[in-house]
Amino acid sequence: MTQPSHKPLTPVKAIRLKCIECARSKKNVRECPLTDCPLYIYRMGTNPNRKGIGNHKSRRREEVVTQ
Ligand code: SF4
Repeated sequence: MTQPSHKPLTPVKAIRLKCIECARSKKNVRECPLTDCPLYIYRMGTNPNRKGIGNHKSRRREEVVTQ
């Protein structure tokens, strides 16, 4: 059995790629006017409901920036 050639994606990263395909550019994804789209809050590749949870690396980065 062969392994898939692509790297596994997290769900929010998969949504990000889908949004880039839908809007045709990263700039258009950022400025997407369709706020009622179910993917809208995840379009930037992050889950805003998990802000401050997990990912110690990014938290440490924020601490360095604020010092
Ligand atoms: S939020 Fe919805 S409409 Fe906007 S780019 Fe993503 S998939 Fe397309």
